[in-house]
Parts: sequence; C-alpha cells; structure tokens
Amino acid sequence: MANIFEKHIASVKDFPNEGIVFRDITPILQDGKLFQEATHELANYAKKRRADVIVGPEARGFIVGCPVATELGIGFIPARKPHKLPREVERASYDLEYGSNSLEMHKDAIKPGQRVVICDDLLATAGTLRACKQLIENLGGELVGAAFYVELPDLKGREKLPDLDVFSLVQYQ
Ligand code: IMP
Repeated sequence: MANIFEKHIASVKDFPNEGIVFRDITPILQDGKLFQEATHELANYAKKRRADVIVGPEARGFIVGCPVATELGIGFIPARKPHKLPREVERASYDLEYGSNSLEMHKDAIKPGQRVVICDDLLATAGTLRACKQLIENLGGELVGAAFYVELPDLKGREKLPDLDVFSLVQYQ
C-alpha cells in the first residue's frame, strides 16, 4: 500500500528554500479514493491506540486529522498558530525544518486523562510533534501515538521522542 501513496507524493526541489526537497501530499488529497484510503489507514492506527481525541497542527494537520476524527466519531483539536484562537490558550514554541514558530491550544481542549493521537502530513525534525506533546501534557492529556502520511527518517524525528509510538504511510530515506 505504501507504494500507492508514494507515487502520489510530489517531490519539489528547492522549495520553499534552496536545498530543501519539499514533499507535497496534495496529489493524495486530489484523489478521492486515495485520500479515503490514507484516512482509513490513520484511523485504523488511532483506533488501535484507543484514541479519545485527535490533535492536528495548523495547517496540513487539519486536513489530515479532521477526516480521521470524523471516521472514528471522536473529537478533533486544532493546534493553531499564535493569536488565532479566541479563548484562553496554552502555548509552546518549537523549531521547524526551516524557521521557528509557536502553537497554541485552548486551555479546555483536552479533558484530564484523555488519550490523544496527533495527525499531520509529515514528520521531519519532530519540532512540531514535541510542541504538540508539550501542549497535550500541560493540559492533562496522554499522548499515545502520532500518525503521518510522510516521514523523513534521516532527520531522526522518532529519536527525539523514543517512547512515543509513531506510524507513517511513506518513509523517504
Ligand atoms: P518538523 O517539525 O521538523 O517535524 O516538521 C514537520 C512540520 O513541518 C509539519 O507540520 C509539516 O507540515 C511541515 N513540513 C516540513 N517539511 C515539509 C515537507 O517537505 N512537506 C510538507 N510539509 C513539511
């Protein structure tokens, strides 16, 4: 199955900066059956991890995570860029593969003890993942897994969170 997904990921050289190969998942989204299949795979994973809620970081994590949550009939929590959420927030800062940023979640987004799975398009250095983990734990949730369309193992994201269970559809060496 991984090959089918891999064939539908576009590799774009020197985007957004020189030397970066950007893995573009939009061809998967454009193909209804494939988008559904990718969603099923991540939903099966989240179900196995007994997720109570899905967290998705802005912006592609919304696209990837929302259909997973609706397929399982569980809640979706957006981790948003600063100053987008209207109520009281928890904030965590992180380094990107290129640049740095912060993410915020509403303080009441997670109930104490809820099992959380993070969904996003791509795992690179795990800066985003670690910021989401910090937010989830600060709010009293338990991070029980993370699921991605694409993983870049060379950037050693998994090694930054050795105790976390991680699932991905495609790995680029
Ligand atoms: P990390 O925080 O270094 O693991 O980077 C992952 C985050 O950056 C994800 O939220 C991705 O959406 C974004 N990202 C980094 N590199 C790429 C890429 O090649 N394609 C798509 N998104 C990327």
